Amino acid sequence: MNYKKIFKKIAEDLSTIKDKGEVANYIPELSTIDPAKFGIHLTTVHQEDYCLGDSEEKFSIQSIAKVLSLSFAYQLEGENLWNRVGVEPSGTAFNALFQLETDQGIPRNPLINSGALVISDILITHLDNPKEDFLKFVRDLSGNQSIEFCQRIATSEKATGHRNAALVNLMKSYGNIKNNIDEVLDFYFNLCSIEMTCNELSKTFLFLAEYGTSPFKKERILCKSKSKRINAIMQLCGFYDEAGEFSFKVGLPGKSGVGGGIVAIYPNKYSIAVWSPKLNKKGNSNKGIQFLELFTTETESSIF
Ligand code: GLU
Repeated sequence: MNYKKIFKKIAEDLSTIKDKGEVANYIPELSTIDPAKFGIHLTTVHQEDYCLGDSEEKFSIQSIAKVLSLSFAYQLEGENLWNRVGVEPSGTAFNALFQLETDQGIPRNPLINSGALVISDILITHLDNPKEDFLKFVRDLSGNQSIEFCQRIATSEKATGHRNAALVNLMKSYGNIKNNIDEVLDFYFNLCSIEMTCNELSKTFLFLAEYGTSPFKKERILCKSKSKRINAIMQLCGFYDEAGEFSFKVGLPGKSGVGGGIVAIYPNKYSIAVWSPKLNKKGNSNKGIQFLELFTTETESSIF
């Protein structure tokens, strides 16, 4: 399939429509991004690459990294993980507090902030050097040793991350955080600060299109069944309280981040990353979703 030609045609069509939305500004460093950036990169399971636009520019992957921390924690903790976090769509904003009270400190799923904070806590318990060991996991998975946290963004978020501090404190009060709160927050802010290009992002996530085996590490990261479950969680919970809409329009498992990135998986076929920083009201990339909707329609590549 000539993906490049399809990318071009969709990008041309979208350039005639006003890109609505705002760049995230609640993390001050994120607001400095040029809102007009637009990049796409698709990697097939045969490792053919197709790209367009600003696909080689690094951006903050933010919540997309939560899928990577979940995969690592699932590998280390196994099924016990689900005693600490659920697998249901939350239907609320990514940083909502109120459900935690009714659910006794158990987050609805691992891809909202509360869930990712619990996953961070689990990783801290397992790892000798949590930040270094996690970065190594991501680098090996993607076959790219240059992937880094961004201290500028982590520090900016630490200074303003009061809701995340509230979430972790509330969960600690219910006994669902075992480690020191500051350490959990520091790990979480660093996790979210990882920077990647669309090219790096699509390659990093290729293991989920390959049923759990990283083509770069040439090693199984997750067994088939666990890999299926990660994709299922992305399908149901990957887009905050817009997961149903993404499923409805795009029909692929995926995950977004407030840096404007989206990654989506077509099992046994490809992984695709799109970056466009303007976010809609639900916190997802406006143009990113529009692009993917047209792309899966044009290529008839929804999983449904
Ligand atoms: N670091 C961001 C936060 O905790 C991640 C949000 C996101 O990308 O969903 O608010």
